Amino acid sequence: MSQRILVVAVERDMDVVLVRQRARQVSMVLGFTKQDQVRIATAVSEVARAACHGGAAARVTFALLDEHARQQLEVTVSASCVPPPYSEAAALADAAVVTAHRLMDACSGGGADEPAIRMRKTLPPQQAVGAARLAQIAAELAATPVANSFGEVQQQNRELVETLAELRERQEDLLSLTRELEDTNRGIVALYAEIEDKAERLRRADEMKSRFLSNTSHELRTPLSSIRALSKLLLDRMDGELTPEQERQVLFIERTATEMSEMVNDLLDLAKIEAGRVEAQPAPVVVDNLFRALRGMMRPLVDAERVELVFDNGGIDTPFDSDEGMLSQILRNFISNALKFTERGSVRVVASADEAPGTITFAVTDTGIGIDAEHLQLIFEEFTQVENPLQRRSKGTGLGLPLCRRLAELLGGRVDVTSRPGVGSTFTLTLPRRFPHPPHLDS
Ligand code: ADP
Repeated sequence: MSQRILVVAVERDMDVVLVRQRARQVSMVLGFTKQDQVRIATAVSEVARAACHGGAAARVTFALLDEHARQQLEVTVSASCVPPPYSEAAALADAAVVTAHRLMDACSGGGADEPAIRMRKTLPPQQAVGAARLAQIAAELAATPVANSFGEVQQQNRELVETLAELRERQEDLLSLTRELEDTNRGIVALYAEIEDKAERLRRADEMKSRFLSNTSHELRTPLSSIRALSKLLLDRMDGELTPEQERQVLFIERTATEMSEMVNDLLDLAKIEAGRVEAQPAPVVVDNLFRALRGMMRPLVDAERVELVFDNGGIDTPFDSDEGMLSQILRNFISNALKFTERGSVRVVASADEAPGTITFAVTDTGIGIDAEHLQLIFEEFTQVENPLQRRSKGTGLGLPLCRRLAELLGGRVDVTSRPGVGSTFTLTLPRRFPHPPHLDS
């Protein structure tokens, strides 16, 4: 529903000033802010000026619209004649409509089908105007005289000065905001450079650690092999008979050298993986063949009187894709640990396939001493061993499980452990049935 507030006739150029004044008065009594009053007055006077260009007459109607949740001021400017296309008057009208679009909420008309131009601006919130108030406003406006044009020009100048001041203030705000942003950016860039620098230093430290490990390990390997070979010569009585005490001492030397070379080998493997110099070589693996080889390799470690070593292929007879060497190294580590920490009972190696995620799992379960919950994750850290009576009897390096974890990652899988102290432990290796090839770009 539309309720008329005021109609102003524009017959001469001078009347545009009057329309402007009326537009400001109407918008003021409807509760628009000072800035909106200027916007409305400017849009209406521009459109009216274009409408009466070249001596035409126009009518400007101010009305209140009740169509939406919030009331709107609607100003309609209808000219007595439509300017011919491409004329100066038409260009002026187009420019006025552009201004109105910018300053009002909506602007329509102005074409050949709809010559009257309608502009709308929504009233500020909590400014609903009832019928009685509207009638009062209309009466007040009718009774309010319009100031002379000089007064209106003064008013316009004041508005211009205020707008300029406001613009300058905004520009200053923008400038200080830009400066703040620049400072923040500079800070972020500095921080980023620092992080890069730290990352580079870490990378270098890591590289140096790997290089140091690998060099030292190489240096140790040769003398250790000589010690083992010489001990073996002595134990084989190549240099003559040994007294029982000498034999005991040489055996001790040989065992210690063997342990050390195991540690060196593990260190070398870890360093190579860390340096990214180890790559899995996937090929079809048959569980039965893998288990047969493992049984042969583990036989010397099994004391059949106390512990039985059982393999169960879980009925898996189709080959799967993996690096058999790495897989065997992980399982050997699990099995030798299980045998080391089990005094009586069994060590079972069971394969099982899980179709849904397409994985194959190898579980090594023992009936040994078990591991406390607090140590379960620690044992995957380098050089970690859990204090227990069997530990002292059977030496180790604390490098086997960390190596298993790295190897499993290289195979696209993972290792897990569950354990109950006094009952036993289960170490599992879960692998994808299809080897995950890194994506490579086709050239
Ligand atoms: P290592 O066996 O050479 O000491 P690992 O990294 O293979 O090194 O194992 C780390 C530690 O984890 C072992 O020293 C032992 O304390 C514990 N552990 C590993 N496997 C078992 C197991 N099956 N039962 C009990 N403890 C185990």
